[in-house]
Amino acid sequence: MAITWNRDRRLLAVALALGIFLVDVVTPLGVASAVPYATVILLTLSRPQPRFTVAMAALCYVLTILDLFVSVGPGSTEYWKVLVNRGLALFAITVTSTLGIQRNRAAEESRKHLEVLARTQRAQTVEHLAMAIAHELNQPLAACSLQAELALALMPASMETGGTSQRLRPLLENVVEQSQRASSILRSLRELVQNGRGERSTVAPNELVKSALRWFEPSARPHRIRLELELAQQLPSVVGDRVQLEQVLLNLLQNACDAFLSSNAVERTITLRTAVSMGGVRISVSDSGPGVSPEIEDKLFDRFYTTKPDGMGIGLAMSRSIVEAHGGRIWLEHATAPSGATFTIELPPEAPELS
Ligand code: ADP
Repeated sequence: MAITWNRDRRLLAVALALGIFLVDVVTPLGVASAVPYATVILLTLSRPQPRFTVAMAALCYVLTILDLFVSVGPGSTEYWKVLVNRGLALFAITVTSTLGIQRNRAAEESRKHLEVLARTQRAQTVEHLAMAIAHELNQPLAACSLQAELALALMPASMETGGTSQRLRPLLENVVEQSQRASSILRSLRELVQNGRGERSTVAPNELVKSALRWFEPSARPHRIRLELELAQQLPSVVGDRVQLEQVLLNLLQNACDAFLSSNAVERTITLRTAVSMGGVRISVSDSGPGVSPEIEDKLFDRFYTTKPDGMGIGLAMSRSIVEAHGGRIWLEHATAPSGATFTIELPPEAPELS
């Protein structure tokens, strides 16, 4: 609808300019019939881009001057007044188009500014939300973990060989492990939001990859996803928050899994690779999914950009914040739709200790 309206306006502006020209031609030059060209310019200003306005202003100039040569003559008006009239018409066209373009430019800038403000506000809301979630969930999670630990301790040793008790123990141990892990994710999320950093320690990249894979494996299994590892030997260590870096890999793995599911891919393989690079260590996650089309490639890391019906568009933006807070970078290796996507992280090596 908007497109039709814009095109209609353009046609109307051209028709009006030609109409004014015809009236101008059949009236004596002394009549100021070129002045209404300013209305044509006003019509073109509904478009934010100045190109059409400038083109129409040029057309109106040409028609105003052309009329001097083809019109029925000056009538009873002296020729110098005719020239002043034409000059006024050209002046009106220039002023209307210049002021209009300036106004449009100011409106565009203010729209962009409002957009940035709205985005910042949303980002702040998300940060507050993240802080609130991290704060509120910590306590019930700690309680869960404690209860499970108590249940484990209360389990009579004499029943250890009994069937139920034997089956209960690993389940309770899993509850303890998962709630402790959730707690540490929340803690590191809070630190990331608070100061952009987390707990720093020496991290072995291959161990990081294996650990992320261990957490991801249970969610990959029901979807028949094959997980492959290609790990380089003798990699330098990196320094960072292990939980945050693990979260980055889990985000990438989860995205690959979502890509398989949304495209109903038959071939479902995710390959995790590590390698030494000029910048330190590279970890890449490649999938055999549908890939990323070049049109959306630039937007992937924008906050709130998502193509999933239930997506939030936070995963890649947050992954980039984490990786950059570690002095590294993350990128989409090649947008080779339809043959899979590869996301790569590069982290600087741990600096050697000075003795
Ligand atoms: P979300 O997962 O909530 O959509 P993300 O920031 O993690 O948010 O991802 C943003 C978008 O990037 C996704 O909606 C998807 O379109 C695209 N994307 C990310 N990873 C892949 C992938 N492996 N294959 C295809 N598209 C991907």
